[in-house]
Amino acid sequence: MSNQPNPLLTPVGEIRGVGRERAAQLLRLELRTVGDLLVHRPRRYEDRRHFQEISKLQLNEPALTRGKIIAAGVKYWKQRSGSVYEFILEDGTGRLHCRWWNLPFMEKYFKIGDDVLVFGKPNSLRPRTIDHPETEIVETMEDAIHLNRIVPVYPSTEGLPQRWLRSLIWRTLDEYEKHIAEPHPEFSLKDQPTRANAIHMLHRPEEKADEELARRRLALDEFIEMQLAMRRRRMNLEKNAAALPSAGDNHFIKPFLTKVGFTLTAAQTKVLKEIRHDMAGPKPMRRLLQGDVGSGKTVVAACTALMALESGLNVALMAPTEILAEQHVQNFRRWLEPLGIAVEVLTGSTKTVTPAQKSLLLTPARSPLTLFVGTHALLEGSFAPEKLGLVIIDEQHKFGVAQRETLLRKGSYPHLLVMTATPIPRTLGLTLYGDLDISVIDESPTGRGKIKTYLRDPESLPKVWAFIREKLAKGRQGYIVYSRLEEGDSAAGLKAVTKEFEELKKVFAPYTIALLHGRMKGAEKDAVMTQFRANQIQLLLATSVVEVGLDVPNATIMLIENAEQFGLAQLHQLRGRIGRGAEESQCILIAKAKTADAKERLKVLTETTDGFRIAEADLKLRGPGELLGQEQSGVAALKFGNLAEDLALVEQARELVKGK
Ligand code: ADP
Ligand code: MG
Repeated sequence: MSNQPNPLLTPVGEIRGVGRERAAQLLRLELRTVGDLLVHRPRRYEDRRHFQEISKLQLNEPALTRGKIIAAGVKYWKQRSGSVYEFILEDGTGRLHCRWWNLPFMEKYFKIGDDVLVFGKPNSLRPRTIDHPETEIVETMEDAIHLNRIVPVYPSTEGLPQRWLRSLIWRTLDEYEKHIAEPHPEFSLKDQPTRANAIHMLHRPEEKADEELARRRLALDEFIEMQLAMRRRRMNLEKNAAALPSAGDNHFIKPFLTKVGFTLTAAQTKVLKEIRHDMAGPKPMRRLLQGDVGSGKTVVAACTALMALESGLNVALMAPTEILAEQHVQNFRRWLEPLGIAVEVLTGSTKTVTPAQKSLLLTPARSPLTLFVGTHALLEGSFAPEKLGLVIIDEQHKFGVAQRETLLRKGSYPHLLVMTATPIPRTLGLTLYGDLDISVIDESPTGRGKIKTYLRDPESLPKVWAFIREKLAKGRQGYIVYSRLEEGDSAAGLKAVTKEFEELKKVFAPYTIALLHGRMKGAEKDAVMTQFRANQIQLLLATSVVEVGLDVPNATIMLIENAEQFGLAQLHQLRGRIGRGAEESQCILIAKAKTADAKERLKVLTETTDGFRIAEADLKLRGPGELLGQEQSGVAALKFGNLAEDLALVEQARELVKGK
């Protein structure tokens, strides 16, 4: 290793021809160094060896064409309340109108006689028109960078011309390609181009196939980094951490299990055995508990908490919403207080009560043994529990790895149990969750009614309402999920939901219907949930806040409006709110007939309740961000890799790193 600075770390500002203004623009694209520029991934490629003739352009089909501007101008109307700039392109076979609405300044970029490349989708053929196409003016015919080859089109930013950026990357590649080293020469990547070759192909593909060859190699590098990071985390833990012995001695668990009112399923027992083994071991537990909605993860969490508490350690349980935290508090108070264990709440709204209460809540365990239940509020600095032996995270997919780590740092290598109802497709299991051991609850408690799922048009709503009324008459309860009002949503959303609410009140009178949404105050939400549990409220008009964790067995009906707006995994979670009692449950999805694709997608839900099949379908359709929540770190860092499709590469990376 030489002491020479790595040339790829040269700041972009030091490249010839990059002034202060350009450097600032590049920074906006997070391009700080030569190395960043070299992996700036084109958002698409244009094959500029062939252009589509204007006369052959097809409606709605993206195409690349080329011609000369023969006419141009801006039209304004009504006191300049709107405008359209238009030029007409001619290539000898026909004419193409290119238009920009309300961007009159476009005029200054083009002049008659310009030789222009146009990429876009014709939105009319009479006359041939493309609105808001991407364009590039050809300056020299022999240009080797921008013409007569497959040309990359990069993500850019305001004021940064595509041609300038492309030339810069071209030059940078010429100058620095020789410095691109193999990041891990110790791995032999057979059948893969070198990293330098891959980066070359990324910017200068000779053939269509080069684009994918380059992407795959660069994706593999990303997966290798992910695997190495995971391995480091794991090894660091094994080297530095001594576990707090926490298997317990059953003096809490025994009385708890006799009073809980049911016997554990075989799957719950098996999982608890795995957990106990970890908790007794020399290293802190790092375990993911996966079990479909309703499979009974909460009781497993309770037993795990009791193991730590029996060993004299405190426990923190974090849930993604206040409603869910509150439900846990109620359960755990009922279960643990008789055993002399304190259950403290810490949520956004408990913190905004009175200062006196606040200081009380933030004091470390007043009772010798405490279970702290809370939301994100647990992550704040003011929460500093003593003797934290175990961290439990419910609905893990709602949190990021960083949040998990923040909570863990509040103790000295506490044990960790994370729980999720989202089945983990294999790519994710090997990447995002690769540093966790996985336990699966693969059966649900018996005596549960089935959930039947139906797909209906909005036109059949009156019939669906009548059906729900029948069920209410039989003493059942239900949810109506309405997507217009998500947390942090607009006032318009609130108005829409209030209107819907007034209407539904009439439809379902004399039954009581109440609103539940994320923008309500904690106390209001609690009041509604308490009344719903007590069957004083029969119907909840709720937003997807009911998605996670709520458990009211008498609720057997769910109506989901605008179902096409949700992901499949999310809908599966939502309908997991019903089917919790012995009765059969019904879930009715309402989707507009117009969206045929969406309906096809939703059909999976009417066909199966297998969460695993649903998650795989969702991962393919919408990508991991949707399945896991955007916050999952790791996904965002992937520029070339695709967790939905690159299982083979992920496995290759894992094998390489493991074998090292
Ligand atoms: P989830 O895995 O979705 O978090 P919960 O823990 O909320 O599921 O459990 C769902 C319901 O099943 C709860 O009412 C719980 O009390 C009940 N339950 C859990 N385990 C069993 C069991 N072994 N037998 C019967 N009911 C159970
Ligand atoms: Mg749960």
